[in-house]
Amino acid sequence: VSDVPADADRVLADLAELAELTSDANGAQRLTWTAPWSEARKWLTSKLAELPVEVDVDEASNLWATLQGRDERALIVGSHIDSVPGGGRFDGALGVVAGLEVLRRLSADGPPAVSVKLVDFAEEEGDQSGMSLFGSAAAAGTLEVELLQANTSYDGRPALEVLREAGVALEVIDRARTRLEGAVAFVELHIEQSTRLEHAGAAVAAVTGTAGVDRHHIRFAGRRDHPARPMGERADSLVAAARFLTELRALAQEHDASTLCGHLVVEPNIPLVVADGCGLTFDIRSFDTAQLATMETAWRELADRVCAAERTTWTSEPRWRIEPAAFDEELVQLAAEAIEELTGAPAPRLGSPQLHDAGEMARAGIPTVMLFVQSVAGISHSKDEFSHPGHLRLGIQALDRVVSKTLARFDGAQPQPSNPLLKRAL
Ligand SMILES: [Zn+2]
Repeated sequence: VSDVPADADRVLADLAELAELTSDANGAQRLTWTAPWSEARKWLTSKLAELPVEVDVDEASNLWATLQGRDERALIVGSHIDSVPGGGRFDGALGVVAGLEVLRRLSADGPPAVSVKLVDFAEEEGDQSGMSLFGSAAAAGTLEVELLQANTSYDGRPALEVLREAGVALEVIDRARTRLEGAVAFVELHIEQSTRLEHAGAAVAAVTGTAGVDRHHIRFAGRRDHPARPMGERADSLVAAARFLTELRALAQEHDASTLCGHLVVEPNIPLVVADGCGLTFDIRSFDTAQLATMETAWRELADRVCAAERTTWTSEPRWRIEPAAFDEELVQLAAEAIEELTGAPAPRLGSPQLHDAGEMARAGIPTVMLFVQSVAGISHSKDEFSHPGHLRLGIQALDRVVSKTLARFDGAQPQPSNPLLKRAL
């Protein structure tokens, strides 16, 4: 392994170039399968063309670039280049562009001990399919295709229509799993998107796992009515929904979980009409599978209670569920060592309450770890997302070191066939 580290400044310059190319006044607009996303992919592909790597796009639109190693097994680095509408320049893109730099650095050294792959997972944000981690879930074999039926894109189109127009064939999407054959490690660098590192005064953290999420759509049904009806006699579905949401938050706090609802549909949504229908989509997250199960029972009881009080009824549909994923202890240790070597301070170890492609890789049985770079004020999914260049440089160098440390474990090892765990699963 060469002593020349990855060029972090080049990563920052590349990120600025990518932002320039794919953002407008409201921020990054790299929604999967849209023109700015294709532009980002074209940009990435042109950078990869300068390297001795093989580029391939799988059945779920994930892009893979392989630097052939002395062994068929593969270490994978990457993240996602797609963004939410009006996103930041670092969310996802940092891990992809830093991975590109790792490939550049390794390419100069001749074949690594095992192959090194860069992946740009498609549709991580889920804005187009209504399904977060779309590409990595397809690669991991955990994509629940039947749930796509009811999903819509952020602008209200049926998810199946968006996918069809993008040329994604769900009948063959499972073949994306073949790209994980022989994977021995997955490493993802990402911004924290929260304030824990800022509060701790730390630049970079080793991430220990991702939370599980349970997403449902619930609809409260009441009776359309006139404001003259006394409040105590109304069947107001909007009030029921509001009570449900505020009490759901309290329940989550009780059970060491968190909850979010960013989607509400009021019918008929007219100022002087008591709403006869109110639907909302909510998430519950926790690092503990048992707590998720407890929360499921608790929110159903809560909905019953609220409806009894507000003379309404409720129905619900599951929208999405993902189990908590713990990362690989040895890789977490390597990541912490890399951070400590670079910063001279103990490395924070954090769980990730938000989802990441790395969670899907861990669920696929691949030893996985993530590195978080401090986000200023925790702002993300916004054009105001920011991380200090010095912190980004440390994160990029830490990623580079984790890759080197992981490769060193395979130096001089007997070449082995693909990961037997994955072979079996396929
Ligand atoms: Zn992200």
